[in-house]
Formats: sequence, C-alpha cells, structure tokens
Amino acid sequence: MDLKTFLVFTAVLLHTTLGFPIQENYGNSTTTTEPTQVTIQEDIYESHPPTETDYEEEVIFNRILKVNKDSSQLLQEGDIVPQRSRSAINCRNRHCNWPQSSDGIVRVPYVLDPTYEENHIKVIQDAMAEFETLTCINFVKRRTERDYLSIKSADGCWSNYGKVGGGQTVSVMKGGCMWKGIIQHELDHALGFLHEHSRSDRDKYVKIMWEYISLADRADFRKFENSNNLGLPYDYSSVMHYGPHTFTNTTGKATIVPIPDESVHIGQRQGLSNLDVAKINKLYNCSRCSTILDTASGSLKSANHPRNYSDNTNCVWLIRTRSRKISLHFQAFDLQTTRGCQGDYVKVYDGASKSSAVLMDKTCGSKIPNDIVASSNLMLIEFVTDGVDTASGFQATFTSGRSEKKENVRERKTIYIKSTCVLPSSLHVI
Ligand SMILES: [Zn+2]
Repeated sequence: MDLKTFLVFTAVLLHTTLGFPIQENYGNSTTTTEPTQVTIQEDIYESHPPTETDYEEEVIFNRILKVNKDSSQLLQEGDIVPQRSRSAINCRNRHCNWPQSSDGIVRVPYVLDPTYEENHIKVIQDAMAEFETLTCINFVKRRTERDYLSIKSADGCWSNYGKVGGGQTVSVMKGGCMWKGIIQHELDHALGFLHEHSRSDRDKYVKIMWEYISLADRADFRKFENSNNLGLPYDYSSVMHYGPHTFTNTTGKATIVPIPDESVHIGQRQGLSNLDVAKINKLYNCSRCSTILDTASGSLKSANHPRNYSDNTNCVWLIRTRSRKISLHFQAFDLQTTRGCQGDYVKVYDGASKSSAVLMDKTCGSKIPNDIVASSNLMLIEFVTDGVDTASGFQATFTSGRSEKKENVRERKTIYIKSTCVLPSSLHVI
C-alpha cells in the first residue's frame, strides 16, 4: 500500500469507527509542518464512541437548546427570558448594569437553590471564579441586597438579559446545565450581554442561512441594529455565540456560516474567551490585566520582556487546556528581590482562582523556579509589581500532559497526523 492509499484508508477507517472529526487546539490553528499529536478528549467521549450529534452537543449553546427543548418557560433566542417592560436594547444605556463599588469591584449578589448538592455548587462556583479572576465582576452571596440573582434548578438553562431588579432567576437545571461554559453563558446574559451573532455588524462576519431556519425560529437570529459593540471585535469563539448548526431544519446544513472564510471555527466549548472578558471589562469599566491561554501548549511573559517590566502592575494568566495536566516551565526569571517577595512577585495557583491551592508561593529574585505541574486542566499565574524597582521579568512555556489514570484510553485514541490545521474538517483532507 503506498503512502497516499494508506493515509486515505486511515482517514476513512477513523471516520467510520469514531464517527466524528478529530479535534484539538480549537483556538490554535497554527500552521506547522511537524507531526502534530492529536488526542481525542476522553472525558466527554469515554463512555461511547462519539457521533456527529455528540460533536454538535459539545457547542455550549447546542447543549443549552437541547435542555430547553422541553422547558415551559417562554424564551427568546433559545435561552433569554423576554423582557416585559423594556426592549433589550435599552441595556446599552447601562440601566441594567450591575452597580460598581468605589473600589472598582462590581458585586453581583446571588442566592443558590437549596436543592443543589455539593457537586452542583462546586460547578457553579468554579464558573463564577473565572469571572472574578479575569474581570472585576464578583459574584457574592446575597445578604440584604434588593437586586440579586436567584440561581435555581428550574426547567432549563436560561436567564434574563441584564439586571432586571429584585430577585431574578438564572435557571441552571441540575444535570443538563451543569457545565461551566453553560453557566458562564447564562451569567453573561445576566451581566448584560446578548448573543454574539446578534451584533449590529454581524453581517460582515457571518452569513445567516435563512433557508435552513424554520419560520418559527427566524426571530432567534434577529440582529440588534443598535447593539453596543463596545468597540471590540466580533468574536467567533465567544461563549455567547451559537454553534454553526444551531436551529437548523436540515441535518448537516449550517445556519451560521463565517465569512469570508467558512472554515473559521464558531461556537464555544470551554467557557469565556479573551474577547468575552475584554467586553465585560469594557462594559463595566474594569481595569484588569488578564489573559486566557486555551491552547494545548504555549508561552507567556511579563510585559516588555526581556526589557524591564513596569511598576504597579497586576496581571494574571489563566491556562485552561482540555482535560490535561498543565506543566509550566520558566525559561527566564528576574524580579526585584525583596524580603518575603512582598514587592514584585510571581505566584502560581492550582486552579482558576486566587483562592485555589498554591503551587508556587510568591517568588522573586533571579533564580529560575522549578517546573510546576497543575493537578487539573487549570493553572493561574499571577504577576504583581510594586512602585519601586524593576527588572527584566520572566518568560515561561506550558504544555498539557496526560493524567496517569486515563493513560491507556488516551494511548488508544492518540494518532499522529501531519497537519496544517487541526480544525474538525481536517480529517477529510489528510
Ligand atoms: Zn444565550
């Protein structure tokens, strides 16, 4: 068998046996001529071979729609509670923003459904923690505040748009909605964000395929001519974006096609994107320095490195990979030395929040720290500088490795392809 035949055969065999496209590095379509390791995410797929439906469900919004199919709640655009007293557009005048305290923090009070169990509460609080880490939004337990979120397991995953006043329900049904990305999607609605494809400028970025959208669903694709786009770019990978096949009436036919490049990936699988974060920070006037790194491997460095960093900075990098342990390797390290590293420092956490376990406590000086391994797919790096002295800062790389427990499963499902782009359709062009 010659090489070409072998590759075609392999592709057909894989497609037949697995029945879904290979996926890895969704945010990372970097061209490479080196062999690329492609590992199927086993957490979701371990119990049964995935199907096209599984793939579609993986888009956060499609999960939401599936759950809401049986909901008795009247919903617009799939998961937004219609407003009675005003049109959603009024939100752009900040009437429905949550108030900002004098310390710059926007505290959004919430109460949780008493029927939630410990594991439900953990998923919800993990979803909230990323907002707190990356933006100035803090979800805080309600004390006596008049306006608050009542997060409950009602019928479906849905939310109001912006602050409504009084106790407003965010429905996070046990089971179906208990995914970090879904919870973040609904909380983002409550903060005042619409679906990304509803933006006034969406026709420059996506084509709505009306012929595959039933009459009854067409309102779900309406465009808000006066949407507040905050001067920030359209985001195909927003946690607020529909998937390509959302509301389709014809199997296999997309309802939203990116333009001009149809192969751009749309929809979200993991949670808030960097632009989602930027939009929250812009809407709420937050001064935050935060970056999400969601590729399988990559690098980060202090601003200006190898030139000196600035005084009085406070930046975080959240590494969020797909179900793999993260390993951080410092290549360069030079920070102002102070007693107890109370001045400038780098600190690393085993999770998405500053209340997560500490992997590396405040570190300064010029000795390169040892490699650091997180226990999950989340690692947070914090870099703080004070008002005196500066140095060249740091540079580090990260990779995400295998957890031992599932080594065998991964081994079976790991293949190597020579790829220029590891988007789902790439399997067909091997
Ligand atoms: Zn929504």
